[in-house]
Amino acid sequence: MKFIASKIDLKSMYLFELEEFFKGIGQPRFRAGQVFSWLHSGVTDFDHMTNLPKSLREELKEKAYIADVIIEKRMKSNIDDTVKYLYRLNDGEYIESVLMKYNHGYTVCVSTQVGCRMGCSFCASGINGLCRNLTASEILSQIMAAERDNGIRVSNVVMMGMGEPLDNFDNSIRFLKLVSDDKGMNIGLRHISLSTSGVVSGIEKLAEYNLPITLSVSLHAPNDKIRSSMMPVNKKWNVEALLKACRDYQKVTTRRISFEYALISGVNDTDECANELAVKLRGIMSHINLIPANPVRENDFKKPDQKRILHFKELLEKHGLTATVRRTLGADINASCGQLRRSVKEANENANIQQN
Ligand code: SAH
Ligand code: SF4
Repeated sequence: MKFIASKIDLKSMYLFELEEFFKGIGQPRFRAGQVFSWLHSGVTDFDHMTNLPKSLREELKEKAYIADVIIEKRMKSNIDDTVKYLYRLNDGEYIESVLMKYNHGYTVCVSTQVGCRMGCSFCASGINGLCRNLTASEILSQIMAAERDNGIRVSNVVMMGMGEPLDNFDNSIRFLKLVSDDKGMNIGLRHISLSTSGVVSGIEKLAEYNLPITLSVSLHAPNDKIRSSMMPVNKKWNVEALLKACRDYQKVTTRRISFEYALISGVNDTDECANELAVKLRGIMSHINLIPANPVRENDFKKPDQKRILHFKELLEKHGLTATVRRTLGADINASCGQLRRSVKEANENANIQQN
């Protein structure tokens, strides 16, 4: 399907907005409910909306489009049931998404932007900067496509794919409201995590919505010296400002905050780092996710050995913190986001160079 900017993105609309839209084209209100159900059950063609008159379907094709993502590449892990997708969007851009199977059901890791402008040194998603924000419908479609491809229902979502969700704030909120709508996919907000690199203005705004999602903060370092060397965002909002925003967020939402900490050998994995981290997180109801850093071809970061990782975890626990080492799902398919899109982009660029 061709992407036509002037057409209306119905899948990103709330039910009340659809009602206004149908009123505007002289249709009864119940049409909005019918179309909302079709869109959120994953239908991608107006002709499949069988309870709409043919004339209305034709009118919708003229005025609107149904956003979708097309599976360009699918990689299934041989170790576990993780499936990594490279999706093509209606305008030809690519994003990544990962489907993971846990005991409690299926989780999808969704992207929120094409690329990312935060520029973290260890991450493949930000290497070429931000291309564009995703619409709410494009974020929803990543889940729908994984469900369709595997004949399953997804119960949990993590906004931890490519992009910084709080840098695409309005569409991320719209996605959260739509995906949890009981007339739509009905995935409870308690089953959704939103991960941020520490966009303090976004955390403050998110607190105003007081959603029962899990806020996950990519901290990765206990002090400004190390954090600024890895994450440019720390120069705008430093560790102190970020942790203050976390405390304020927790006061409002009373929700435990999860802190991501990617362990990079010789950078942030020392005993001093663990002790400093424990001191800084005092008074915050937290859970720390230790992630052995995934090497990205563009940098030379290495993950610490298993002994060091476990020692780091034990030190945190001695201080009374709870920490887990994240299971590395899909280790054989490079399941951390940003890497696949980048390799496809590079392949295309190389092909272009060869053609010229
Ligand atoms: N932009 C958001 C969400 C997407 S990144 C954020 O930064 O939080 C999701 C998680 O993957 C973040 O915790 C990020 O720091 C981590 N990550 C990115 N590249 C990684 C790598 N090479 N190894 C380990 N974790 C990585
Ligand atoms: Fe963007 Fe997150 Fe990657 Fe940083 S870690 S560049 S914020 S996607």
